[in-house]
Amino acid sequence: MRIEVVTLFPDFIAEAVRYGVLGRAIERGRVAVAASSPREFARDVHRTVDDRPYGGGPGMVLKAEPACAALRAARARLPAGSPAIYLAADGEPLTQAKAAELARCPGLLLLAGRYEGVDERVLETEIDECVSIGDYVLSGGELAALVLIDATVRLLPGVLGDEESARQDSFVAGLLDWPHYTRPEVFEGRAVPQVLLGGNHAAIARWREKQALGRTWQRRPDLLAKLELSAAQRELLEEYIAEHRAGDASQSD
Ligand code: SAM
Repeated sequence: MRIEVVTLFPDFIAEAVRYGVLGRAIERGRVAVAASSPREFARDVHRTVDDRPYGGGPGMVLKAEPACAALRAARARLPAGSPAIYLAADGEPLTQAKAAELARCPGLLLLAGRYEGVDERVLETEIDECVSIGDYVLSGGELAALVLIDATVRLLPGVLGDEESARQDSFVAGLLDWPHYTRPEVFEGRAVPQVLLGGNHAAIARWREKQALGRTWQRRPDLLAKLELSAAQRELLEEYIAEHRAGDASQSD
């Protein structure tokens, strides 16, 4: 996969993608990430990329000419079938399913906005879709582009050491992840749940599914409401809720 990011801060993108899973994916040639700036395409001596909004009001707007020129140059470096995405607070929410959809694309063209946003005509002519990373406003689209890149690239075949780990992540099956533990067995008086120490794989799988159901019930009931639970899952969840309520009751004694 090849990813091109059009941003006023290309060095920020280039630096951030050097680390961890993403950095290794780049080293191994699973993905190439390049960043370029509309400023390179500004024609005046000051390399102006922003201007005041028509109609008045606060802030500045990213100008159409340099943004379009940068996007067109970046598009020419991408394989056909690579969608152009504007990271925008008012875009479609980024979800695990959306990241999985993007991971099937041959490339991605990402536009990170700044100021009040980008001249609407850039979006009309160059952009296929707008994606938001959440219901809050960032000062720029770079962090959003990096979030989208990270969530997408870790789903590419061969990027994670263990493919199973991506299949078990939160949201993949509509549930949150279960709790994880590593050595030592007791840390500051807190012991690892006994079931994880016994090597009984069926019991471990049952415990993990119960925790995943319980966490989703506690933290994201909206996700649980969207799921059709099996009879076995309902039983596990009821068990979790009963244990949880018993725990609460014993604490209030
Ligand atoms: N005036 C815009 C609004 O109210 O929606 C906010 C502009 S914001 C200060 C500047 C840039 O940050 C946007 O052009 C967009 O690229 C990016 N941005 C801000 N919030 C975002 C979010 N939640 N998801 C993705 N990108 C975001």
